Amino acid sequence: MKKKNIKLKHRFLPLTLLFLLFVLGFFYIRNAREFKTTYVTPVVSFKDKPILSSTSSATSTSSPSVVQNKDSLIPNIQAAPKITQNASGYCLNVPVLTYHHVQPESLAKQLGQISGTVDNGFFDQQMAYLASHGYHTITVAELVNALKSHSALPPKSLAVTLDDGYVDDYSYVLPIIKKYNITINLMIATGLVGNPDFISWDQLREMKGTGLVYFTDHTWSHYAVGRGPQDKIQYEITTGKQQLEQNIGQAVNIFTYPYGSFSPNAIQTLQQDGFIGAFSTIPGFLQCDSFIMTLHRNHVGNASLSAYGL
Ligand SMILES: [Zn+2]
Repeated sequence: MKKKNIKLKHRFLPLTLLFLLFVLGFFYIRNAREFKTTYVTPVVSFKDKPILSSTSSATSTSSPSVVQNKDSLIPNIQAAPKITQNASGYCLNVPVLTYHHVQPESLAKQLGQISGTVDNGFFDQQMAYLASHGYHTITVAELVNALKSHSALPPKSLAVTLDDGYVDDYSYVLPIIKKYNITINLMIATGLVGNPDFISWDQLREMKGTGLVYFTDHTWSHYAVGRGPQDKIQYEITTGKQQLEQNIGQAVNIFTYPYGSFSPNAIQTLQQDGFIGAFSTIPGFLQCDSFIMTLHRNHVGNASLSAYGL
C-alpha cells in the first residue's frame, strides 16, 4: 500500500510541477502585458487646458490620458527595433539629436525621471560643444525642405529636438540656447501643455519670440499613432496641429511620432493632412527623401557629444 502511494506521487509530481509552471507563466505574461499598456491611464478633464489627475478611466477624444510618472512618455531606447532604412534618392548627412528632460540630475532622481533626463550642466556643455565646433543648428523644417527640394544645407548642419514639452524646456533649456545662440525644435503634445510639470502656452510663446524655437506636432495626448482606431489617429494628428497653430501662430506640417510608433496607415494619414516630413526614433545621421516620413533621430544622454560621433 505504502509503496503504491509513493509510486503514484512520483507519477503526479512532474505533472503538478508542469501545471504550476504553466500557471506562473500565464500570470507573468499577463502582468507584463498590463505593464506595457497602462502607461496611459490617468485622466484629464480637458478642454483647452487639461488637468492631470491620478484616477483612471477610458480614453476618449475629449479627455487625453496622461501619466503621473512622466518617464513613461519616453520611448525605451534599449527596446527600440534595429531598423535600417533604405538610403536612396536625395540624402543629407544631418544629425538630429533627441532630448526629453533637461534638469539637474538630483531633481530628476526625486521626480523619478532619471532615464529621460540630461543634466542641465551636461546640456550646457553639449550646446557649448556645438557652438565651438562649428555646428550650424537648424530647424527640422529646414532639413525637410532641403530634402524635398534637393538643395544643400550649410556644412555641419544639425538639429536639436526636445520632446513632449516639459517645463524644463523653459526653466533650463531656454537660458542655455540664448547663451550659445542655438536653434531648437520642440515636439509638443498639445493636450499636455499647462499640466503640472509641463510647459504653458505663455512660456511657449515667449520661447517662440526668441526666434530660436521651431514647433512640430507630437499629437494631442502623446498617442502612439502606429496602432489604434483610425478616427482616434486622425483626431490626435489634426488636434495637435490645430492647437499648435492657434496658440503659437506657426504653420505646422512636420510630425514627430510619440514612442517612435508609426505605420503605413499613420504615414498616409499624415500626408493626406498636408504633413511633408516626420521624425522617428530610428537612429542614424543620414537623412533621405526616400524616408522623409520616418527621418532619423539620435538619443543623447549624459556624455560629451564627441562620444556620439560629433
Ligand atoms: Zn514624446
